Amino acid sequence: MSHSCIAAVTGANKGIGLAIVRNLALQYPQSSFNNGPFLIYLTARDKTRGQDALKSIQSDSALKKARALAQDGGLTTVKYQELDIADDQSINSFANFLKKEHPDGIDMLINNAGIAEQGFHPEMVDTTLKINYYGTLHTTLALLPHLRPGGRLVNVSSMAGKLNKYSPTITSRFRAARSVSDITTLMQEFSASVHEGRHTEAGWPSVAYSTSKAGVTGMTRVLAREVSEGKVEGVREGVLVNSCCPGYVKTDMTKGGGAKTPDQGARTPVMLALGELGGKTGEFWEHGEVSQW
Ligand code: NDP
Repeated sequence: MSHSCIAAVTGANKGIGLAIVRNLALQYPQSSFNNGPFLIYLTARDKTRGQDALKSIQSDSALKKARALAQDGGLTTVKYQELDIADDQSINSFANFLKKEHPDGIDMLINNAGIAEQGFHPEMVDTTLKINYYGTLHTTLALLPHLRPGGRLVNVSSMAGKLNKYSPTITSRFRAARSVSDITTLMQEFSASVHEGRHTEAGWPSVAYSTSKAGVTGMTRVLAREVSEGKVEGVREGVLVNSCCPGYVKTDMTKGGGAKTPDQGARTPVMLALGELGGKTGEFWEHGEVSQW
Protein backbone atom coordinates (compact mmCIF):
# COMPACT_ATOMS: atom_id res chain seq x y z
CA MET A 1 0.00 0.00 0.00
CA SER A 2 1.33 3.47 -0.73
CA HIS A 3 1.06 5.87 2.18
CA SER A 4 0.19 9.52 1.72
CA CYS A 5 1.81 10.52 5.02
CA ILE A 6 4.81 8.93 6.77
CA ALA A 7 6.25 9.68 10.22
CA ALA A 8 9.18 8.35 12.25
CA VAL A 9 9.62 8.62 16.02
CA THR A 10 12.89 7.86 17.82
CA GLY A 11 13.06 6.20 21.27
CA ALA A 12 9.45 5.17 20.81
CA ASN A 13 9.40 1.90 22.77
CA LYS A 14 8.18 3.55 25.97
CA GLY A 15 7.40 6.79 27.77
CA ILE A 16 6.73 9.96 25.79
CA GLY A 17 7.96 8.42 22.50
CA LEU A 18 5.40 5.62 22.62
CA ALA A 19 2.70 8.17 23.53
CA ILE A 20 3.76 10.28 20.54
CA VAL A 21 3.18 7.30 18.22
CA ARG A 22 -0.22 6.64 19.81
CA ASN A 23 -1.32 10.28 19.61
CA LEU A 24 -0.06 10.75 16.05
CA ALA A 25 -2.27 7.81 15.08
CA LEU A 26 -5.25 9.19 17.02
CA GLN A 27 -4.96 12.77 15.72
CA TYR A 28 -3.91 12.18 12.11
CA PRO A 29 -7.47 11.64 10.76
CA GLN A 30 -8.46 15.18 11.87
CA SER A 31 -5.21 16.84 10.76
CA SER A 32 -4.53 18.77 7.57
CA PHE A 33 -1.91 16.12 6.67
CA ASN A 34 -4.70 13.57 6.19
CA ASN A 35 -4.78 12.84 2.52
CA GLY A 36 -4.97 9.06 2.80
CA PRO A 37 -3.20 6.20 4.59
CA PHE A 38 -0.70 7.07 7.35
CA LEU A 39 2.41 5.06 8.22
CA ILE A 40 4.33 5.57 11.47
CA TYR A 41 7.76 4.05 12.12
CA LEU A 42 8.05 3.27 15.81
CA THR A 43 11.82 3.09 16.19
CA ALA A 44 13.82 1.74 19.12
CA ARG A 45 17.41 0.67 19.75
CA ASP A 46 16.37 -2.73 21.12
CA LYS A 47 14.38 -5.07 18.88
CA THR A 48 12.52 -6.90 21.66
CA ARG A 49 11.51 -3.68 23.41
CA GLY A 50 10.49 -2.15 20.07
CA GLN A 51 8.39 -5.14 19.04
CA ASP A 52 6.73 -5.35 22.47
CA ALA A 53 5.83 -1.66 22.13
CA LEU A 54 4.42 -2.31 18.67
CA LYS A 55 2.21 -5.07 20.13
CA SER A 56 0.96 -2.65 22.80
CA ILE A 57 0.02 -0.16 20.06
CA GLN A 58 -1.70 -2.86 18.01
CA SER A 59 -3.84 -3.89 20.99
CA ASP A 60 -4.58 -0.32 22.17
CA SER A 61 -8.34 -0.07 22.64
CA ALA A 62 -8.59 3.69 21.89
CA LEU A 63 -6.69 3.15 18.65
CA LYS A 64 -8.84 0.17 17.71
CA LYS A 65 -11.94 2.28 18.32
CA ALA A 66 -10.58 5.19 16.26
CA ARG A 67 -9.63 2.79 13.48
CA ALA A 68 -13.12 1.30 13.50
CA LEU A 69 -14.52 4.82 13.12
CA ALA A 70 -12.29 5.70 10.16
CA GLN A 71 -14.37 5.69 6.99
CA ASP A 72 -12.09 3.37 5.03
CA GLY A 73 -11.77 1.00 7.98
CA GLY A 74 -8.24 1.92 9.05
CA LEU A 75 -6.05 4.87 8.15
CA THR A 76 -2.94 4.16 10.19
CA THR A 77 -0.26 1.47 10.09
CA VAL A 78 2.53 1.34 12.69
CA LYS A 79 5.75 -0.58 11.96
CA TYR A 80 8.83 -1.23 14.10
CA GLN A 81 12.27 -0.29 12.78
CA GLU A 82 15.58 -0.48 14.64
CA LEU A 83 17.39 2.81 15.33
CA ASP A 84 20.09 3.51 17.89
CA ILE A 85 20.81 7.23 17.70
CA ALA A 86 24.17 6.77 19.46
CA ASP A 87 25.39 4.70 16.51
CA ASP A 88 26.03 6.49 13.20
CA GLN A 89 25.85 3.18 11.31
CA SER A 90 22.39 2.55 12.71
CA ILE A 91 21.32 6.09 11.72
CA ASN A 92 22.68 5.58 8.18
CA SER A 93 20.96 2.18 7.83
CA PHE A 94 17.65 3.70 8.89
CA ALA A 95 18.09 6.64 6.50
CA ASN A 96 18.98 4.26 3.64
CA PHE A 97 16.02 2.04 4.47
CA LEU A 98 13.67 5.04 4.32
CA LYS A 99 15.18 6.27 1.04
CA LYS A 100 14.70 2.83 -0.52
CA GLU A 101 11.17 2.25 0.81
CA HIS A 102 9.98 5.83 0.34
CA PRO A 103 11.98 7.49 -2.46
CA ASP A 104 9.70 10.58 -2.37
CA GLY A 105 10.52 11.12 1.30
CA ILE A 106 8.72 11.11 4.61
CA ASP A 107 6.66 13.87 6.22
CA MET A 108 7.73 14.06 9.84
CA LEU A 109 10.56 13.06 12.12
CA ILE A 110 10.17 13.34 15.88
CA ASN A 111 13.53 13.06 17.63
CA ASN A 112 12.40 11.99 21.08
CA ALA A 113 15.12 9.54 22.22
CA GLY A 114 17.15 10.74 25.18
CA ILE A 115 18.74 9.78 28.48
CA ALA A 116 19.10 11.40 31.92
CA GLU A 117 21.73 9.62 34.01
CA GLN A 118 22.42 10.18 37.69
CA GLY A 119 25.68 11.70 38.92
CA PHE A 120 28.27 13.89 37.25
CA HIS A 121 31.62 12.70 35.92
CA PRO A 122 33.44 12.94 32.58
CA GLU A 123 32.24 9.60 31.16
CA MET A 124 28.57 10.31 31.92
CA VAL A 125 28.91 13.79 30.43
CA ASP A 126 30.23 12.24 27.22
CA THR A 127 27.53 9.54 27.14
CA THR A 128 24.82 12.14 27.71
CA LEU A 129 26.17 14.42 24.97
CA LYS A 130 26.63 11.44 22.66
CA ILE A 131 22.96 10.46 22.82
CA ASN A 132 21.07 13.68 23.59
CA TYR A 133 23.10 16.13 21.50
CA TYR A 134 25.15 14.28 18.87
CA GLY A 135 22.58 11.47 18.39
CA THR A 136 19.77 13.97 17.85
CA LEU A 137 21.99 16.09 15.56
CA HIS A 138 23.19 13.17 13.43
CA THR A 139 19.67 11.75 13.05
CA THR A 140 18.43 15.22 12.12
CA LEU A 141 21.15 15.76 9.50
CA ALA A 142 20.68 12.28 8.00
CA LEU A 143 16.91 12.63 7.61
CA LEU A 144 16.29 16.35 7.08
CA PRO A 145 16.97 16.16 3.31
CA HIS A 146 14.55 13.24 3.14
CA LEU A 147 11.58 15.26 4.45
CA ARG A 148 9.01 16.08 1.79
CA PRO A 149 8.10 19.73 1.08
CA GLY A 150 6.15 21.12 4.06
CA GLY A 151 7.55 18.37 6.31
CA ARG A 152 8.13 18.71 10.04
CA LEU A 153 11.15 18.03 12.19
CA VAL A 154 10.54 18.05 15.94
CA ASN A 155 13.34 17.77 18.49
CA VAL A 156 12.18 16.88 21.99
CA SER A 157 14.40 19.07 24.15
CA SER A 158 13.59 20.21 27.70
CA MET A 159 12.90 23.21 29.88
CA ALA A 160 16.10 22.06 31.63
CA GLY A 161 17.91 23.31 28.52
CA LYS A 162 16.96 26.94 29.15
CA LEU A 163 19.82 29.40 29.31
CA ASN A 164 19.67 30.19 33.03
CA LYS A 165 22.62 28.14 34.28
CA TYR A 166 25.61 29.49 32.41
CA SER A 167 28.08 32.35 32.74
CA PRO A 168 27.05 35.53 30.86
CA THR A 169 29.74 34.79 28.26
CA ILE A 170 28.50 31.26 27.57
CA THR A 171 24.87 32.43 27.55
CA SER A 172 25.68 35.09 24.95
CA ARG A 173 27.61 32.58 22.84
CA PHE A 174 24.56 30.23 22.83
CA ARG A 175 22.32 33.14 21.80
CA ALA A 176 24.76 34.49 19.19
CA ALA A 177 25.33 31.10 17.53
CA ARG A 178 24.83 31.36 13.77
CA SER A 179 25.65 27.81 12.71
CA VAL A 180 25.31 24.28 14.04
CA SER A 181 29.08 24.16 14.41
CA ASP A 182 28.92 27.13 16.84
CA ILE A 183 26.67 25.04 19.10
CA THR A 184 28.80 21.91 18.64
CA THR A 185 31.88 23.93 19.66
CA LEU A 186 30.10 24.85 22.92
CA MET A 187 29.31 21.17 23.58
CA GLN A 188 32.96 20.24 22.90
CA GLU A 189 34.18 22.96 25.26
CA PHE A 190 31.81 21.79 28.00
CA SER A 191 33.12 18.22 27.70
CA ALA A 192 36.77 19.34 27.61
CA SER A 193 36.36 21.57 30.67
CA VAL A 194 34.74 18.69 32.62
CA HIS A 195 37.61 16.35 31.66
CA GLU A 196 40.10 18.99 32.80
CA GLY A 197 38.24 19.63 36.09
CA ARG A 198 37.64 23.33 35.36
CA HIS A 199 34.03 23.44 34.12
CA THR A 200 32.76 25.54 37.08
CA GLU A 201 35.38 28.24 36.64
CA ALA A 202 34.72 28.12 32.89
CA GLY A 203 31.07 29.01 33.57
CA TRP A 204 29.33 25.64 33.08
CA PRO A 205 26.91 23.94 35.54
CA SER A 206 27.58 20.45 36.93
CA VAL A 207 24.65 19.06 34.94
CA ALA A 208 25.17 17.09 31.75
CA TYR A 209 21.47 16.63 30.89
CA SER A 210 20.65 20.37 30.97
CA THR A 211 23.70 21.28 28.92
CA SER A 212 22.95 18.59 26.32
CA LYS A 213 19.38 19.93 26.01
CA ALA A 214 20.61 23.54 25.74
CA GLY A 215 22.59 22.15 22.80
CA VAL A 216 19.46 20.54 21.29
CA THR A 217 17.42 23.75 21.58
CA GLY A 218 20.28 25.88 20.22
CA MET A 219 21.08 23.48 17.38
CA THR A 220 17.40 23.36 16.34
CA ARG A 221 17.23 27.16 16.32
CA VAL A 222 20.31 27.71 14.14
CA LEU A 223 19.55 24.77 11.87
CA ALA A 224 16.06 26.15 11.18
CA ARG A 225 17.61 29.49 10.26
CA GLU A 226 20.15 27.78 7.98
CA VAL A 227 17.30 25.82 6.35
CA SER A 228 15.21 29.00 5.81
CA GLU A 229 18.23 30.72 4.25
CA GLY A 230 18.74 27.77 1.88
CA LYS A 231 22.15 26.97 3.43
CA VAL A 232 21.45 23.29 4.13
CA GLU A 233 21.86 21.28 0.97
CA GLY A 234 18.96 19.14 -0.21
CA VAL A 235 16.31 20.39 2.22
CA ARG A 236 12.99 20.90 0.47
CA GLU A 237 10.68 23.87 0.61
CA GLY A 238 8.55 24.66 3.64
CA VAL A 239 10.16 22.20 6.07
CA LEU A 240 9.57 23.45 9.64
CA VAL A 241 12.17 22.63 12.31
CA ASN A 242 11.21 23.16 15.97
CA SER A 243 12.14 22.00 19.47
CA CYS A 244 9.96 21.63 22.54
CA CYS A 245 9.64 20.60 26.15
CA PRO A 246 6.98 17.93 26.81
CA GLY A 247 6.53 19.18 30.41
CA TYR A 248 7.38 17.23 33.57
CA VAL A 249 6.11 13.77 32.67
CA LYS A 250 5.73 10.56 34.66
CA THR A 251 8.03 8.11 32.85
CA ASP A 252 11.01 5.88 33.66
CA MET A 253 13.21 8.95 33.21
CA THR A 254 11.54 10.82 36.07
CA LYS A 255 11.32 7.63 38.18
CA GLY A 256 7.64 8.04 39.00
CA GLY A 257 7.88 11.83 39.50
CA GLY A 258 6.23 14.06 36.92
CA ALA A 259 2.92 15.86 36.86
CA LYS A 260 1.79 14.80 33.39
CA THR A 261 0.86 11.46 31.85
CA PRO A 262 2.87 10.39 28.76
CA ASP A 263 -0.19 11.22 26.60
CA GLN A 264 -0.21 14.76 28.04
CA GLY A 265 3.56 14.96 27.48
CA ALA A 266 3.03 13.98 23.83
CA ARG A 267 0.70 16.94 23.18
CA THR A 268 3.25 19.60 22.20
CA PRO A 269 5.48 17.28 20.11
CA VAL A 270 2.40 15.94 18.26
CA MET A 271 1.06 19.46 17.73
CA LEU A 272 4.42 20.44 16.20
CA ALA A 273 4.20 17.43 13.87
CA LEU A 274 0.54 17.59 12.81
CA GLY A 275 -0.80 20.99 13.85
CA GLU A 276 -1.13 24.35 12.14
CA LEU A 277 2.05 26.30 13.02
CA GLY A 278 1.58 29.36 10.84
CA GLY A 279 4.97 28.69 9.28
CA LYS A 280 6.82 29.04 12.60
CA THR A 281 10.25 27.43 12.53
CA GLY A 282 13.31 27.49 14.80
CA GLU A 283 11.22 28.09 17.91
CA PHE A 284 11.28 26.42 21.32
CA TRP A 285 7.74 25.40 22.41
CA GLU A 286 6.20 24.58 25.78
CA HIS A 287 2.51 24.01 26.70
CA GLY A 288 1.60 24.22 23.00
CA GLU A 289 3.07 27.75 22.65
CA VAL A 290 6.31 29.40 21.62
CA SER A 291 8.44 29.93 24.73
CA GLN A 292 11.66 31.67 25.74
CA TRP A 293 14.85 29.63 25.47
P1 NDP B 1 12.21 7.40 28.98
O1 NDP B 1 13.46 7.13 29.72
O2 NDP B 1 10.93 6.85 29.47
O3 NDP B 1 12.37 6.99 27.45
C1 NDP B 1 13.50 7.35 26.73
C2 NDP B 1 13.46 6.64 25.39
O4 NDP B 1 14.66 7.00 24.66
C3 NDP B 1 13.46 5.12 25.53
O5 NDP B 1 12.68 4.58 24.50
C4 NDP B 1 14.93 4.78 25.32
O6 NDP B 1 15.15 3.46 24.84
C5 NDP B 1 15.26 5.79 24.23
N1 NDP B 1 16.68 5.91 23.99
C6 NDP B 1 17.67 6.23 24.88
N2 NDP B 1 18.86 6.19 24.24
C7 NDP B 1 18.62 5.84 22.96
C8 NDP B 1 19.44 5.63 21.83
N3 NDP B 1 20.76 5.71 21.89
N4 NDP B 1 18.85 5.31 20.64
C9 NDP B 1 17.50 5.18 20.56
N5 NDP B 1 16.68 5.33 21.62
C10 NDP B 1 17.24 5.67 22.80
O7 NDP B 1 12.13 8.99 28.90
P2 NDP B 1 10.93 10.00 28.55
O8 NDP B 1 9.90 9.31 27.75
O9 NDP B 1 10.57 10.71 29.78
O10 NDP B 1 11.74 11.05 27.64
C11 NDP B 1 11.52 11.20 26.25
C12 NDP B 1 12.18 12.52 25.83
O11 NDP B 1 11.55 13.61 26.55
C13 NDP B 1 13.66 12.60 26.18
O12 NDP B 1 14.34 13.26 25.14
C14 NDP B 1 13.67 13.45 27.45
O13 NDP B 1 14.89 14.11 27.64
C15 NDP B 1 12.54 14.42 27.16
N6 NDP B 1 11.99 15.05 28.34
C16 NDP B 1 11.35 14.29 29.31
C17 NDP B 1 10.81 14.92 30.43
C18 NDP B 1 10.06 14.17 31.48
O14 NDP B 1 9.58 14.82 32.45
N7 NDP B 1 9.90 12.85 31.37
C19 NDP B 1 10.94 16.38 30.62
C20 NDP B 1 11.63 17.07 29.56
C21 NDP B 1 12.11 16.40 28.46
P3 NDP B 1 15.51 2.23 25.85
O15 NDP B 1 14.22 1.76 26.43
O16 NDP B 1 16.15 1.26 24.94
O17 NDP B 1 16.43 2.78 26.91
